[in-house]
Amino acid sequence: MISTRDTNSKGRSYSDVLLEGLAEDGGLYVPNEYPRFSSEELRRLKGISYAKLAFAIKKKLIDGAIPEHIEETLIDEAYKAPTFGNESDAITPLRTVGPNLYIQNLSLGPTASFKDMAMQLLSREMGFELSRRGESLTILGATSGDTGSAAEAAFKNIPGIRLFMLSPQVGMSEFQRAQMGALSGGNICNISIRGRFDDCQDLVKAVKQSDEFSKLGAVNSINWGRISSQIPYYFAGYLQAVSRIGEPVDFVVPSGNFGNVLSGYIAKQMGLPIRKCIVATNENNVLDILFKTGVYAVKTAHITSSPSMDISKASNYERLVFDLFEHDASKTRTYMETFGKTGRVDLGDFGKRPENFLQLGFESDNSSHSERIATIQEVYITAKTVIDPHTADGVRVALKRTRDVPTICLETALPVKFEQTIREALGFVPERPPRFLNMEKTASEESFIVLDPEPEALKTVLRAH
Ligand SMILES: *Cc1c(COP(=O)(O)O)cnc(C)c1O
Repeated sequence: MISTRDTNSKGRSYSDVLLEGLAEDGGLYVPNEYPRFSSEELRRLKGISYAKLAFAIKKKLIDGAIPEHIEETLIDEAYKAPTFGNESDAITPLRTVGPNLYIQNLSLGPTASFKDMAMQLLSREMGFELSRRGESLTILGATSGDTGSAAEAAFKNIPGIRLFMLSPQVGMSEFQRAQMGALSGGNICNISIRGRFDDCQDLVKAVKQSDEFSKLGAVNSINWGRISSQIPYYFAGYLQAVSRIGEPVDFVVPSGNFGNVLSGYIAKQMGLPIRKCIVATNENNVLDILFKTGVYAVKTAHITSSPSMDISKASNYERLVFDLFEHDASKTRTYMETFGKTGRVDLGDFGKRPENFLQLGFESDNSSHSERIATIQEVYITAKTVIDPHTADGVRVALKRTRDVPTICLETALPVKFEQTIREALGFVPERPPRFLNMEKTASEESFIVLDPEPEALKTVLRAH
């Protein structure tokens, strides 16, 4: 695999990249080239279980770095029907909600967001790789809500791994806080920061810059293990939606850090007949503006009713830039450094235009709070199903389009995580799946270490554990 900022970094395997996270030169790891599936191969994937499908795809991406029979076992363990709350092995079933309009459910996992899909496999792959090397790893992460609980549920009790998760004292829903609190203890340490999500992320960066903590692992979507483990569900959605292999579909993806939709773009590059990857943002529309104008300009993120998308810098966008610049690492570096220094960068200054995004299959749109509320109401009336506000971002965008091909909206969280917004839209709160019933009782204030946003304070805690 190679880093987006250094074409000489060849020689890293999938396993090395799993443990390393961000490349040393500041770039993100990507495969030298994307493996391809022929139509004949795609035909053979139709109708098989999610685990078998995921194995067929990951096998090509891992390229022997993890022995195939091991990877197959890890995948079987990660994607068991009971873990994903259903009786069948579909794991990511499709629901029809309108003419040529589907919702693909990705949030039936242990913590009710699509982040479980990748975390459940990432934790097992990292655990295997560490035990094979006789090593251990400390992971430091920051969450605005869903990443924290998904990572904690997946990494709980994985030998060789300690996970420290920073979360802001303000901004998360009560449900999200309780979910994390209930997972504290053992190899999981929750740290609540007196500040906002940005303070948490700045702290992670500051601590990782010191030599003492430079080897800390990452579980956010800059880790290629996450991106690659999201690719299979695009295949699963496609194969359920079409009657004939080769028929095109569109995917609509609620986006924040650009991790989820990037996986869809890669699935397309691998030969899956996706026509468009449609990026849906909320009021924090930096990406929507980027795809329409070619200008990527940071704006202060404000808190919305789809909080997991309240992000002003989309970390994974760099992986697309690298492709757009035909794998020119020094051009990618200059582009990203310009953005880093000035908070604004224009594709036009690098010889590209917004049409180049279109050619790669990208389109974008956004939604406002009142549009999401109206969409939750509309889907409830017409399809008798309750969707969460993030999914509503995507469905809203899909409803505005002429759907001349099957359009699949990814469901990124269950509505139970965002009770307040559902009450505003529908006048009642969604029913809680049984596994979440006593969560608040298991969690307590003692589940969190509370710190000021000071790097030294955090380092002291990391050393003590
Ligand atoms: C993380 C998250 C998103 C955004 O996904 P990205 O990969 O960061 O683009 C959207 N919706 C929900 C519910 C999430 O948890």
